[in-house]
Amino acid sequence: MRVLVTGGAGFIGSHLCERLLHDGHEVICLDNFFTGRRQHVAHLLDNHRFEIIRHDVVDPILLEVDRIFNMACPASPVHYQYNPVKTVKTSVMGAINMLGLAKRVRGRLLQASTSEVYGDPHVHPQREDYWGHVNPIGPRACYDEGKRVAETLCFDYHRQNGVDVRVVRIFNTYGPRMLLDDGRVVSNFIVQALQGNDITIYGSGEQTRSFCYVDDLVEGLVRMMDQDDFTGPVNLGNPNEITIRELASRVIELTGSRSKLIEMPLPKDDPYRRRPDITLAQEKLDWTPSVDLEKGLRLAIAYFDEALRSERSAELRVSR
Ligand code: NAD
Ligand code: UDP
Repeated sequence: MRVLVTGGAGFIGSHLCERLLHDGHEVICLDNFFTGRRQHVAHLLDNHRFEIIRHDVVDPILLEVDRIFNMACPASPVHYQYNPVKTVKTSVMGAINMLGLAKRVRGRLLQASTSEVYGDPHVHPQREDYWGHVNPIGPRACYDEGKRVAETLCFDYHRQNGVDVRVVRIFNTYGPRMLLDDGRVVSNFIVQALQGNDITIYGSGEQTRSFCYVDDLVEGLVRMMDQDDFTGPVNLGNPNEITIRELASRVIELTGSRSKLIEMPLPKDDPYRRRPDITLAQEKLDWTPSVDLEKGLRLAIAYFDEALRSERSAELRVSR
């Protein structure tokens, strides 16, 4: 099949492109290179089934494809809050353009939604039938509400136009090819530990997250796209929940770093607890993550260690 991956030069997108090529598909990687990097897919360029298009999903595009993974959107709070209006446009107009494309070619579209649709949740762990607790006017709203509208659009195109949609709610995912200054917690802590800098804990560090290694996530995305009778939404994430302070300790232990932990102000509306209920993914997709946190962190640490030493490390940052 010919598969379009929007945001294909990003962290998750680049792993997905690799997997789809491995599975024998033709892959079109579309990206505006805001937080994506050519370097992330440079090793795929020799493959005659792979191509890259520089394009912004805010603008319509005519392509002939069978399937679309709509991954385009900055995912780190630092980057999606840099230009919040643009973040809303990317989610909303990007979804309209990609759903319009899916409608025209009668293709299947998978939308990368997020655990952020649950906001700062009152229900724990989060199941798909929970409607969430999102502040519509706070600093995270450009991302959270943008992604909620994108889900709305998926189901309206599905009901109104019969578009074949798949909606996945991705929980915190980490691994190689997060940018060195991505701003999310796993890459921040590893880079700080490797450089011997202070580890920045926001707030008390008692807030929790549940971290999924990128290979597990990609397996879930492919399974969701490949099955024929379930639109979702479905949670994809690792239910192993830990506090941010515990995460910092694990990173220090695994890097052998002498960095100290320091507390910084907690960002506004930072969710206090997050853990996916993945019963639905287990039942419908026979999917369960298999990489535990220690193994995943070791793989990520090896990547960041190498990236920091690389002569091209400047390209692996978002320098503005
Ligand atoms: P990322 O920032 O590494 O990747 C996003 C990619 O989209 C980048 O390559 C970026 O350049 C591209 N992009 C951004 N705006 C664009 C636009 N207007 N037009 C074209 N390309 C654009 O982030 P990621 O972690 O790989 O996230 C990928 C997707 O998964 C996002 O939609 C994100 O919301 C979703 N997601 C990720 C996580 C996670 O923990 N990694 C969690 C929930 C949801
Ligand atoms: N966090 C932190 N230090 C950092 C970056 C993040 O303590 O250097 C915290 C952040 O406040 C949040 C958690 O780690 O409670 C996860 O943050 P991230 O930005 O990775 O993702 P999200 O909040 O979107 O889940």
